[in-house]
Amino acid sequence: MNHEYDRLYIDGEWRNPSSAQSLSVVSPYTERAIGHVPLAGPADVNAAVAAAAGALRSTGWGTLDPAERADVLERFADELEKNAAERAELTTIQNGMPISISTPAEGYGPVGILRYYAALARALPLEETRDRLDGNGQTVVRRQPIGVVAAVVPWNFPQVLTMFKLAPALAAGSTVVLKPSPETTIDALMLAETAHRAGLPAGVLNIVTGGADVGEYLVAHPGVHKVAFTGSTAAGRKIGEVCGRLLRPVTLELGGKSAAIVLDDADLASTVEGLATASLLNSGQTCYLSTRILAPSSRYGEVLDAVAALAGALPIGDPMDPATAIGPLVSERQRQRVESYIELGKKSGATIAVGGGRPSADTGWFVEPTVFGNVDNGAEIAREEIFGPVLTVIPYRDIDEAVAIANDSDYGLGGTIWTADPAKGLELARRVETGTVGINYFDLDIGAPFGGVKASGLGRELGPEAISAYSEIKSIYLPRLDS
Ligand code: NAD
Repeated sequence: MNHEYDRLYIDGEWRNPSSAQSLSVVSPYTERAIGHVPLAGPADVNAAVAAAAGALRSTGWGTLDPAERADVLERFADELEKNAAERAELTTIQNGMPISISTPAEGYGPVGILRYYAALARALPLEETRDRLDGNGQTVVRRQPIGVVAAVVPWNFPQVLTMFKLAPALAAGSTVVLKPSPETTIDALMLAETAHRAGLPAGVLNIVTGGADVGEYLVAHPGVHKVAFTGSTAAGRKIGEVCGRLLRPVTLELGGKSAAIVLDDADLASTVEGLATASLLNSGQTCYLSTRILAPSSRYGEVLDAVAALAGALPIGDPMDPATAIGPLVSERQRQRVESYIELGKKSGATIAVGGGRPSADTGWFVEPTVFGNVDNGAEIAREEIFGPVLTVIPYRDIDEAVAIANDSDYGLGGTIWTADPAKGLELARRVETGTVGINYFDLDIGAPFGGVKASGLGRELGPEAISAYSEIKSIYLPRLDS
């Protein structure tokens, strides 16, 4: 089925774009075009930002009673639940994510996030009155919408990463201009159709399409009040520079090179079963994955063999097949990047325990899950984000050295600890320099903040904390009202 779009969703309607140029969206499994989307130009971005600003004023989204906003978000969630399977399939055919992952994450994930923020919009007060510390009156601390949000998202989890931004922004009363990735634009346009059906007021969500140039124009636009970005560290640095110059608030969710610390008491069978998702979810194209596996020297050979056996046994193939664990990588360019890291790994003196090549398949940008042993933490394959199914297994002598290796990274996004003693795992988790850590599993909790330290980003998404990221706080000093 072909997905053809020739109009942009701006100000609550489908508009002709300013240019006739279009983008082709290609399936990484068949390597064939699955549809076309229009390419937005500066005039379209200007119109989208103006619409988002207008919605703050004219329809009063920002001043609406939060409970009324929550009603709209709940209707949006109900509509998204109806087409969850269809949106999950769209993600899979665009980026190759195995359908067993896209159905819960991309199909239903956004539904739960919206309902959570709708409930928060109802529950969290907009104002709090505090007695002044000097005793001379009171201060009303008031939360107001930050304004127009530029949301720029990547292709790896397009629906759910969009909702990480959209749901708290809308709950806070802000409005959004979304710039999806060129690889995954069709699902974003379906999201707009769904929002429209749910009765989201005009201008509250607008979508501009295109590549990095459209994103650059949007984040620097004078009408934008806040930037929320998920993507590579390289692009995040550029966006951070622009926002620094403009003194514009920004949230950056960037890359990672997280560590799995396998303790000497860990049960290997359940550890390896957990690593299948904690280290290889979405064919290795997930930002928080534990791609450096730290094994005690005393059990090094055993851990390496078990991880290699796991990686070698994962079913590779058609991402629409529910049995598939490893699908194709998103693009030919991404496969080249991953393969160039495999070559670097070989040159570094590390040894391939399994994988390293391409599986036999007529079409599709596949790379075999690959595990390197004898890896030094200073090697490029241990330091740089590969964003494919490539794991490194690194030995450590004692717990202090394991923590030192885990923390010896430019990144700090995720991480896992595998142990028979979760209390010991918690102790260790406190010492790992990263935004999130899982003990014996890794799965985001939408009620708790998610994000990274160091080159993994700035700020946090999810949890009640995300409401603050889309709000301005105002203090109003006044004489005591009750006197
Ligand atoms: P990317 O940085 O190339 O692109 C991400 C998005 O930003 C795309 O929409 C792109 O068009 C746009 N863009 C690129 N350069 C820009 C610029 N200078 N100004 C404005 N917009 C720009 O990343 P990608 O290849 O699409 O995604 C993979 C990367 O995303 C990986 O590094 C991964 O770790 C990271 N990621 C991070 C998280 C997280 O939460 N920390 C989650 C998922 C992915």
